[in-house]
Amino acid sequence: MIIVLKPEASVQLTNDILKQIESLGLKPLHMPGKERVVLGALGDERVLAQLNLDSHPMVESVTPILAPYKLVSREMNPEDSVVSIGAAKFGGGHFSVIGGPCAVESYDQMSKTAQTVRTAGAHALRGGAFKPRTSPYSFQGLGLEGLEILARVSREVGLPTVTEVVQTSDIEAIVEHASAFQVGARNMQNFELLKAIGQTTTPVILKRGMAAKVEDLLMAAEYVVSEGNPNVILCERGIKTFETATRNTLDLNAIPYIKSKSHLPVIVDPSHGTGIREFVPPMARAAIGCGADGLIVETHYDPSVALSDGKQSLDPEQFVEFMKEIRPFVDAVRKAML
Ligand code: PEP
Ligand code: MN
Repeated sequence: MIIVLKPEASVQLTNDILKQIESLGLKPLHMPGKERVVLGALGDERVLAQLNLDSHPMVESVTPILAPYKLVSREMNPEDSVVSIGAAKFGGGHFSVIGGPCAVESYDQMSKTAQTVRTAGAHALRGGAFKPRTSPYSFQGLGLEGLEILARVSREVGLPTVTEVVQTSDIEAIVEHASAFQVGARNMQNFELLKAIGQTTTPVILKRGMAAKVEDLLMAAEYVVSEGNPNVILCERGIKTFETATRNTLDLNAIPYIKSKSHLPVIVDPSHGTGIREFVPPMARAAIGCGADGLIVETHYDPSVALSDGKQSLDPEQFVEFMKEIRPFVDAVRKAML
């Protein structure tokens, strides 16, 4: 429920209503604005009727939040949220690109790739230290050593970093070594992981599960935000459909849909979305066109020797060209890319 108070409502009244909401077993929210105070009540909204707030002389309106997700809904916050990973901003008219390899493989690999990412003009560096692979025999990532390499390279090239978190016990080390979490498609509904991330303030890129509805993604984001971490960036990375020509089907419908329902920034991963490097630039352009607030793109100094996802990784020359090519598209949608 969203309760808008009249401009002349006192601080005392605000506090009284918040206490009453809490006493009914609902979660009270206080959102003071420039002109008026907005209050929220999360939980079973029917019990709120007992307070008869809609007939209170200092209450302007009481509106139910219809979406099952509340905090991440546009009903709750009509303005776009801006989420920052270091100096890279996403949402509210800001557009940023995260580039880097699928996995951290060695210092040398990460350092060479990061230099391209930086000179091409991308804004953040990706690299997985913990890799959730379909096969237990595939490269699983370097773990803590990978995080240390990522942190060192980040300092050397001056870019913030994003790395995947696969279990709660790794959260502390990731907070120490990286600028943002990535929750992968396979963990989108790992609710204990989402809750634990929600208890940090580190930004998180939450990827859509490959068999998850958009509403499931928004509910997953609600888990993080309801624990207190508002710094969530949603990511469309392709879903499984009957089509097998490409690795996944990049669901670009999801972008305008999410933007209409949620204030959170949304980015697109055309690398996993297509699985084929030649298709990354055209789908990135399409993503910009339909409203994405950023991109996450795999690149490797030599994709032919990559330990994971080489087929969908751009080589250095392609990544430099890619960054040049997308700029006019970002300009055309009137977003700011540093
Ligand atoms: C990745 O970004 O390398 C990755 C594993 O992504 P996803 O979770 O989308 O498959
Ligand atoms: Mn990958």
